[in-house]
Amino acid sequence: MSIEVIQLTKQYGQQIAVNNISFTIPKGEIVGFLGPNGAGKSTTMKMLTSFLNPTSGSLKVNGYDVLKQPLAVKGSIGYLPEHNPLYPEMYVREFLSFQASIYNTPKSRIKDVIALTGLLPEASKKIGQLSKGYRQRVGLAAALLHNPDVLILDEPTTGLDPNQLLEIRHLIKEVGKEKTVLLSTHIMQEVSAICDRVIIINKGTIVADKRLNELQQNK
Ligand code: ADP
Ligand code: ADP
Repeated sequence: MSIEVIQLTKQYGQQIAVNNISFTIPKGEIVGFLGPNGAGKSTTMKMLTSFLNPTSGSLKVNGYDVLKQPLAVKGSIGYLPEHNPLYPEMYVREFLSFQASIYNTPKSRIKDVIALTGLLPEASKKIGQLSKGYRQRVGLAAALLHNPDVLILDEPTTGLDPNQLLEIRHLIKEVGKEKTVLLSTHIMQEVSAICDRVIIINKGTIVADKRLNELQQNK
């Protein structure tokens, strides 16, 4: 399994943000994590990427225990946070070079991820000059630098205009072919456009977990 979440709970003070959820994702699947704002999607993703500690339960990525082997987990995951802290004054290549040095990734990967994410026409610009869609490509490029097996994408298309939205969806589908992907969204259409399977979360609880072809047969 690429991702295993077992009886995972997160409380912020008295508030239960994630309530005893379990799911597994096999290698190669693209899974939509669907739910309204406040459902617990970001909280779950931050626990998977080891940015946040669970209150209870366990998580594994690529067989590595997130709590016990956080570095191996970080090496396996490319994470695109919802509010990506990009540096507007940095040039695209400069930013990716800076990220590569953090991840200890060979600089030769930079041109690969620029090509992979369609950034070439904008690669000599400052991040602050780019459209939101291109800034998302920069975020994706950074997430892909160390060639992770697993991509965790937190609402990657929120706030994009309709053209950019279609382009980024297409890009995620393309780069996702080689990877396991967990993508959060509050839009079912997005899941239908990109994913093999949907896990629906509401108020911290999983309310459905289905393959897309099962859903389509039930229509
Ligand atoms: P989603 O990503 O589905 O919108 P979140 O995981 O961000 O949901 O939030 C789940 C719940 O936990 C929400 O009620 C949110 O307000 C709360 N929450 C998230 N982060 C914190 C935090 N750092 N402190 C307190 N409550 C939080
Ligand atoms: P991101 O998704 O990039 O973490 P957010 O704007 O969702 O950005 O959250 C920014 C910070 O505020 C995060 O550390 C998050 O956990 C925290 N946070 C989110 N919701 C709440 C909340 N209801 N109460 C307190 N802190 C929150």
